[in-house]
Amino acid sequence: MARLINGKEISKQIKDELKEEVSGLKEQGVQICLAVIQVGSDPASSVYVNNKKKACAYIGIDSRSYELPEDTGEEELVNLVESLNEDESVNGILVQLPLPAHINEDRIIRTISPDKDVDGFHPVSVGRLWLGEKGFQSCTPAGIIQLLKRSGVQIEGRECVIVGRSNIVGKPMAALLLRENGTVTVTHSRTKDLREVTKRADILIVAIGKKQFITAEYVKKGAAVIDVGIHRDENNHLCGDVDFDSVEPVASAITPVPGGVGPMTIAMLMDNCVESVRGREGSQ
Ligand code: NDP
Repeated sequence: MARLINGKEISKQIKDELKEEVSGLKEQGVQICLAVIQVGSDPASSVYVNNKKKACAYIGIDSRSYELPEDTGEEELVNLVESLNEDESVNGILVQLPLPAHINEDRIIRTISPDKDVDGFHPVSVGRLWLGEKGFQSCTPAGIIQLLKRSGVQIEGRECVIVGRSNIVGKPMAALLLRENGTVTVTHSRTKDLREVTKRADILIVAIGKKQFITAEYVKKGAAVIDVGIHRDENNHLCGDVDFDSVEPVASAITPVPGGVGPMTIAMLMDNCVESVRGREGSQ
């Protein structure tokens, strides 16, 4: 039977640590403010934005909300982001994705100053990540590293296989596992004989976007399995990219859905907000 990696508990630990750090920073006169921009009123985006604001409130980070109508023009959004780049009281800028189809998402991401890019999506942040430099790390993969470390799964020297090569999960995950001295393989839809590759993994990270795709036949006995996927099953219950009931008896450790990777993304966003001011103590 696999050990459950409890993302809810670990994300709470991280938020509590950040809360203490933020309170210390406040005593030294350092305030943190996150600007959150939402365009339109997509219900899923509104839930994510609200959860981010709640997490800020819990930790002691100010959040400033910009709720713009669906028909907001691209130039108007660029102007807002540029004014927030200039605003010294704002430390982090988050534009909730996806944006409406008439707005070029890449242009907006590139408009955010790399020094305020708390989602870690700007090409400068991505470059810093691959170069091993200090900077904002993409939140979901950074959360997975914390899940592994805090639940005692050794990364160094081990075979790590990632299923999926998206810019927000698969690719930054590879960079972070390399940093931790894992031996990393990234697989995708053109990978030949996926099972052969995933069966080599001591640590298997699945971000494929296909409901319960990974079954026991893909998993080596004793592997740690991290499931990034979020879906609804036929009974409308949340489930992941991994078929939990099939894989759990084979794995040594596994993340559940919900309560695994999901809660970590916001915790790491909060960490990036705090990161934006680390080192400023005593300089104000
Ligand atoms: P994308 O759809 O952007 O990427 C999916 C990746 O899986 C692609 O690289 C694709 O390959 C690969 N793939 C698709 N089919 C196969 C196959 N049959 N065999 C091997 N590889 C395959 O997904 P995301 O990375 O954005 O998200 C993945 C999942 O994680 C989704 O369910 C999403 O909802 C969830 N998610 C959860 C988050 C959280 O906070 N918990 C955060 C972000 C995402 P190719 O490149 O060749 O097309």
